[in-house]
Amino acid sequence: MSDSNQLLVRRIRNGTVIDHIQYGRAMFVLRALNITGKEGNVVTVALNVPSSKHKKKDIIKVENRFLEKDETNKLALIAPHATINIIREYRLVEKRKIVLPDSIVGIFGCPNLNCVTNSEDIKSTIDVIDKTKIVMKCRYCGRALTVNELVS
Ligand SMILES: [Zn+2]
Repeated sequence: MSDSNQLLVRRIRNGTVIDHIQYGRAMFVLRALNITGKEGNVVTVALNVPSSKHKKKDIIKVENRFLEKDETNKLALIAPHATINIIREYRLVEKRKIVLPDSIVGIFGCPNLNCVTNSEDIKSTIDVIDKTKIVMKCRYCGRALTVNELVS
């Protein structure tokens, strides 16, 4: 990581830094975490930041909010290689990888238009059947789902 990137990550007193988001995905991450800016926290979004690992990346810094594991695991499909940095008093106190959860609730709409979750007020629930091969199924209509169908 270059010095300038280091600065982007470091200069936050308290909060969460989501680093190494695949470029172009920051907006999906914000939506999945329900970060709208209305909460009043300072939120910084950096797009297309030069990165040695993947050429370009997105970074999101949310000040004064410490994201919980079940929140950040929601990002498993959107930004599986992102790292979560929890900062307290300018110090990195926790560095976390994202883990694919057993089920993903209320994040993605089921692509099956006839699915009950699209017509009634039911939260979509996607069960992850195989975490290695990423095999997923809608709990309500049983449709097999691919990452591309959900994240687009
Ligand atoms: Zn469904």
